[in-house]
Amino acid sequence: MRTYQIAVLPGDGIGPEVIAEGLRVLEAAARAEGGFGLKTDTLAAGAQEYLWSGKPLPDRTLDGCRAADAILLGAMGLPDVRWPDGTEMVPQIELRFVLDLYAGIRPIRWYPGVPAVLAQKQPEQVDFVVVRESTEGMFASLGGGVVLRDEVATDQQVITRKGTERVCRAAFGWARRRAQERGRAGRVTCVDKANVFRSMAFFRKVFYEVAAEFPDVAADHEYVDACAMKLVRQPERFDVLVAENLFGDILSDLGPGLIGGLGLAPSADIGDAAAVFQPTHGTAPDIAGQGIANPLATILSAAMMLEWLGDRHADARVAGAGRRIHHAVEQGLAAGGLRGPDLGGEFTTEQIGARVAGAIAGGA
Ligand code: ATP
Repeated sequence: MRTYQIAVLPGDGIGPEVIAEGLRVLEAAARAEGGFGLKTDTLAAGAQEYLWSGKPLPDRTLDGCRAADAILLGAMGLPDVRWPDGTEMVPQIELRFVLDLYAGIRPIRWYPGVPAVLAQKQPEQVDFVVVRESTEGMFASLGGGVVLRDEVATDQQVITRKGTERVCRAAFGWARRRAQERGRAGRVTCVDKANVFRSMAFFRKVFYEVAAEFPDVAADHEYVDACAMKLVRQPERFDVLVAENLFGDILSDLGPGLIGGLGLAPSADIGDAAAVFQPTHGTAPDIAGQGIANPLATILSAAMMLEWLGDRHADARVAGAGRRIHHAVEQGLAAGGLRGPDLGGEFTTEQIGARVAGAIAGGA
């Protein structure tokens, strides 16, 4: 029986609260499916850790992440804890660079039972994935921007052929998998600003070169400004979107806005040798410590982690445990049993986690 090593980084704010429920559900799913084990190693990182040790991402944490089969992360950063230049601690972004996690996968899907956000639409048609390039773009100059004479500030955008090819291949691969699951053709939309920036025109050119490797998947493109509007007005027309880092970052928050909020949006940051799974939301200091954060984004991220491990290790049981979690969340939301205050309900963080875990244990 294989045991998977999971590095757990709860982080700051609501991070530890939602991670506790993610772990509760993971254990329930592993027990229900059987045939594999999970060994977790909880590691320190984040703004609070910086206050304690002077390092938001200590070496021991990095070593633990490198040794793990997968990493489950809560959220990091606190508005009052900053570097001398005024920027926030973002060890979760640093991890993407250190572990070369180039593809940020952000599935956006409306679940029956969640109050619809777009009244004029059939919300069940909202089902797309944002694939965000996560190691280049503006973020490549993280910590390297320049402020001159207190008059001019610059950060540089970096787009490489290698970085663009690999994230586009990830997007087309994701579209192919979704097409097979859903029994229809797949499509990838390149989101850029190719009419204005050379770097973006290059990104689009490489996108179409990669598209030629996937003749079974349709390819098209949108300018990011028009795309933002179309996502609100016609979200059903999108399948997989691929974008450079900053545009992907913004669309990754627009998406959850269409389906009921950040509390329902999971994510994965995937590289060739490692992967981090975490809710799309941040540390939400405004609600931290109150026990009202929605843990479903973390629980769904944990499900993505199991499905990724299942794929990677050809382990049907692990993938099956991931599907059990998805199913329990879907059923629970449809029955109106998993709504916290963010969705107009009254359940606490702990109650939501316990209900999902209970449903899995009961054979949901
Ligand atoms: P970051 O820049 O790290 O993404 P942020 O401050 O922009 O963080 P969040 O911390 O994600 O954003 O919070 C944005 C809003 O969404 C806040 O009002 C917060 O309370 C709410 N929110 C975020 N996550 C959750 C959650 N899991 N459950 C309920 N509300 C949440």
